[in-house]
Amino acid sequence: MKALRRALGVLAIALVVALAFFIVPGITDSGQQASAEAPFSLIYYDAHMHTTRSDGSGSVAQIKATAQARGLSAVIITDHCTSLTLDEWNSLVAETAAVSEPGFLALPGFEITGSEGIFNRGHMNAYNVPDPFVGDDALELCPEEVWPDPPNPAGTGPMYPENLTKWVDYVHSQGGIANHNHTSGSTQLSYGVNNIEVYNQSHVDDVFFYAKMLGYSDAQALGFALTLNNFAIYGERDVNMLVPFPGFPTPIPLRYALYYATRALFGVGQWLGSPQAPLNSWDDLLMAYVDGTVDTPIFGVANSDAHNTGWTTNPLQSDVGVAKNGLYVKALTADEVYKAIKAGRSFATTGPSIAFDVNGEQMGDTAYIGSGGSANLNLSVKAETAGFVLAKIEIRKNGQVWKTIYPSYPTPTPAYSATLVDSVTEDGYYRVEVTSQNAAGAYQLAYSNPVFVDVP
Ligand SMILES: [Zn+2]
Ligand SMILES: [Zn+2]
Repeated sequence: MKALRRALGVLAIALVVALAFFIVPGITDSGQQASAEAPFSLIYYDAHMHTTRSDGSGSVAQIKATAQARGLSAVIITDHCTSLTLDEWNSLVAETAAVSEPGFLALPGFEITGSEGIFNRGHMNAYNVPDPFVGDDALELCPEEVWPDPPNPAGTGPMYPENLTKWVDYVHSQGGIANHNHTSGSTQLSYGVNNIEVYNQSHVDDVFFYAKMLGYSDAQALGFALTLNNFAIYGERDVNMLVPFPGFPTPIPLRYALYYATRALFGVGQWLGSPQAPLNSWDDLLMAYVDGTVDTPIFGVANSDAHNTGWTTNPLQSDVGVAKNGLYVKALTADEVYKAIKAGRSFATTGPSIAFDVNGEQMGDTAYIGSGGSANLNLSVKAETAGFVLAKIEIRKNGQVWKTIYPSYPTPTPAYSATLVDSVTEDGYYRVEVTSQNAAGAYQLAYSNPVFVDVP
């Protein structure tokens, strides 16, 4: 599946011309010093990776070694369930239990794998479900075999979106959590998923790889990679970004450039973010919760989606934990981990850590504000990786940039904390995006989950 994805992606990107993202430090304000005390302890987990049971190269024991080398306390292993037999599933359950110990938790999950559209991906991870088999276990039928998600020749998202909803309904009926993977902005509210991957390392690497192959610079390649694979976050804002495109006298929106590129190459255009899913940025999905369109918010996560789990001499040859989530838990147990994931008490990251509350309410929670009241945003951010400093912190309020802070201007710093005060007049949310950088120009990212505010 990875090979097909690579082949399609490289062709599509070949026709789209450069966009580069630069972080430009500038002058801005900062709040007064304060500290955000978290009542939970912070652990890290990665919840998307493959073993030799599907298209990964490694074992549960190898995954554990890499996870521990990268400072993770928990992993959820998610092989493609169509590749799993009942025996293989049972062996995964047994092996994850066997490697778990007081400081480390390995849990069995699975990936439901739908159509291989180029941008609109019908892939979902299921967590905390007893097994992946719908109905009689002996038949070994995975959700996508019972409710199919065939390729849609029109390139406009799934042919049967109602079947993706059925996957989620099945996961929920088993008491589980449903995560939409590498969404490229295609998440529809009707699916009812709990989480979306706002960052998927495997897909970022793929696009970076194609773009490098085509001769783009590191910065340009990373710009492409983050745009296409972080699409859950950047959504509508970047779909209309103008890019030069062969045959057009002036630059055209990225969305159209990708459509024309794939149409020229495959005869069938593929849309980045389905036109049938206008709510295709994370902020729009969050606003749908704020305005009462849906009953539960969709939280953001980052995962490695590591396939190279079978390292040979050094556990760090595997990508497990390169992207991960900081999770605030009361204890390192499966129940507590699932509870915290469901509550959104977490941030997605490739490096920096975030502690963030509003009037004492944690990420994923709601602060109830009296009329004429104010929100105290308590924020504490650390770069966490040696040599990295905090380049930029952006706080988003109801989908818009509310405040931008450049902690390392003029003096480079790996840590920042402040209490920022805002007067609240309407229901909404705040969330935090962090960029850290090292002297070589590499950067790392973190995205907090939102804290909602509610006014009478
Ligand atoms: Zn996938
Ligand atoms: Zn995967």
